[in-house]
Amino acid sequence: MGANIFITEETVDGADDGPLAGTTVAVKDNLSTEGVRTTCGSAMLEDYVPPYDATVVERLKDAGATIVGKTNMDEFGMGGTTETSAFGPTENPVDAERVPGGSSGGSAAAVAAGEADVALGTDTGGSVRNPAAFCGVVGIKPTYGLVSRYGLVAYANSLEQVGPIGSTVEDAAALLDVISGADERDATTRFDESMGTHPAADSEYAAAADGDVEGLTVGVVADLLDGADDRVVETFEQSVSDLESRGAEVVEVSLESVEHAVQAYYVIAMSEASSNLARYDGVRYGLSTGKDGNWNETYAETREEGLGEEVKRRILLGTYALSAGYHDKYYKKAQDARAWIKQDFDAAFEEADVLATPTMPVLPPKLGESLSDPLQLYLMDANTVPVNLANLPAISVPAGEADGLPVGLQLIGPKFGEETMIRAASAVEN
Ligand code: GLN
Repeated sequence: MGANIFITEETVDGADDGPLAGTTVAVKDNLSTEGVRTTCGSAMLEDYVPPYDATVVERLKDAGATIVGKTNMDEFGMGGTTETSAFGPTENPVDAERVPGGSSGGSAAAVAAGEADVALGTDTGGSVRNPAAFCGVVGIKPTYGLVSRYGLVAYANSLEQVGPIGSTVEDAAALLDVISGADERDATTRFDESMGTHPAADSEYAAAADGDVEGLTVGVVADLLDGADDRVVETFEQSVSDLESRGAEVVEVSLESVEHAVQAYYVIAMSEASSNLARYDGVRYGLSTGKDGNWNETYAETREEGLGEEVKRRILLGTYALSAGYHDKYYKKAQDARAWIKQDFDAAFEEADVLATPTMPVLPPKLGESLSDPLQLYLMDANTVPVNLANLPAISVPAGEADGLPVGLQLIGPKFGEETMIRAASAVEN
């Protein structure tokens, strides 16, 4: 297949019946699959076969799904175009000359191309919503703690969630029904008695996709329209006014702190990544260049060979941001910005039930156009990363087209407000 959607095309059948019986699912290649290669898009893990399933994969199988393959991705999730994969780029099914977005580009492309009914991606700073927007499909980033991260190969733990991708809001929400819920192997999904039951226990996400927005207040985040491409803004505004004509009330909200989100996100994500990726040492997992017992040389050589340029850049910058003497200057400042962003969102949800922005400020770039300028690539994440910093849920739903290319509308919900967000999104697609 020319489109390079899958890294491994191996079919795994689930239980005989269940809510996903007869449904085909593509799984991002950073989710552990027992007996099936899990590469994270990296040469470092090219031959790594996990001995266990991620909780979300176990739930897919229990629900009767058929897994049709492991999808291409930016190496360790670091990127927004699927071009940093060690296995080459994926083509956008809408326009083969363009990127599918990323880092879960293979998963979104699989759904858009009809290679799978639905797919799982992961979203650390937009990696489900970005490719969903660029491929014209639906992607959900759940509230932090809604879905287990057990068996997800970590990039930046405090930011990421596994999220569903589907061709409709209802399809993606039905997948969320299956994968969400408490897991004793991931403490961030646990709720003690004082906190009540896990929010997924009494939620029905697919049933919420009823398109009823009568009386719902939608807050347009004015601060995130400024830097966006005019064609994107025009399509976005059209779909917001469609929501209004369906009975929603549209107001404008301001989130002053979001201008610091990209900087704060990259300091935090790279810091966490530098620590997480220390485990690829040529001894414990994956690639080893085997230097006759000289540990320092084995470590250096294995990492030199096994990791791509973007991953190395982030390990270096993250290590720097955490080092003694610089910690307060970068990491602590980023944490302060994160706290401010959370407060700003809390205030905005006093004025609106859901918030709306374009998912991506630009149309999908052409293949090969982005990698030479990492800063430009990081700025593409301006609208998605604030959501991860604040641990909130968000969905990207097709808003229409500009110049024949898909534009995504992002709806952000309050903490564990997935049902409201899904309801509003289903009104956008109808
Ligand atoms: N583009 C962002 C990054 O490179 C987001 C990636 C993601 O969500 N995994 O970090």
